[in-house]
Amino acid sequence: MNSQKVALVTGGNRGIGLGIVEGLLRQGFQVILGSRSLDSGRLAVDFLEDLSEKVDLMQLDVTDLSNIQKAAKYVRKNYKCLDVLVNNAGIVGKNQKSMKEGDIDEVEMVMNTNYYGPMRMNKTFLPLLQKSEEGKIINISSGMGAFGDLIGEYAAYRLSKAGLNAQTVLLSNDLVESKIKVFAVCPGWVRTEMGGAEANRSIEEGADTAVWLSSSSEAETGKFYRDRNIVPW
Ligand code: NAP
Repeated sequence: MNSQKVALVTGGNRGIGLGIVEGLLRQGFQVILGSRSLDSGRLAVDFLEDLSEKVDLMQLDVTDLSNIQKAAKYVRKNYKCLDVLVNNAGIVGKNQKSMKEGDIDEVEMVMNTNYYGPMRMNKTFLPLLQKSEEGKIINISSGMGAFGDLIGEYAAYRLSKAGLNAQTVLLSNDLVESKIKVFAVCPGWVRTEMGGAEANRSIEEGADTAVWLSSSSEAETGKFYRDRNIVPW
């Protein structure tokens, strides 16, 4: 039986996901780095240099249920349980349209990754998280999905993250009697491919709250976190 805590990060090959992988490794986790392309995942593992000893690269596309089920089978066989699942993989979509101007195809595409992706992951990995002494699901959301900010451009993205926040509350209520905690996190505006070069946060700053939640025993389940504090939905 592996006594080291095991974490799985989706979209761990770049951006905030890779920052979370690095932070978790520094905290001593065994990390399964999910990447939909193995080539890109290998580059991420190389980037981690000395830390990469405790990384297990896994091909993982959150839009593909059979791929996710195969991944869960691998984790069950090799690790027996999962302590932390970070649902980080996300897309912003192809356009910035408002609700009034946007089209349904765009909404479906973004929801498939940002909303149904975490739902597929959570449902499939729940039995493995239940085997942990203190399981955690960390949904990487966005302030753009907060109800006070549902306005203007990027309607598909905002909807997907508002839905992810609702999922966080529903699942945390279902699991309130269990040892599993469920959180949503806003990383802030971060300098990644999605956030762009003008963003005001480094990847390390953007990853910080998710990494902190992974080890925190005080954090409250069913809440939306930013900068290690609870923020309004
Ligand atoms: P990013 O640099 O664009 O990286 C996105 C990651 O998600 C990549 O690893 C990408 O993989 C992966 N991904 C996309 N679709 C996937 C799929 N179907 N299956 C598996 N992986 C998939 O974005 P980021 O800025 O790091 O964002 C990470 C998370 O933070 C997202 O959920 C995002 O919504 C959220 N967020 C970001 C900001 C910001 O300012 N950057 C702000 C608020 C919230 P590939 O390399 O294969 O494309």
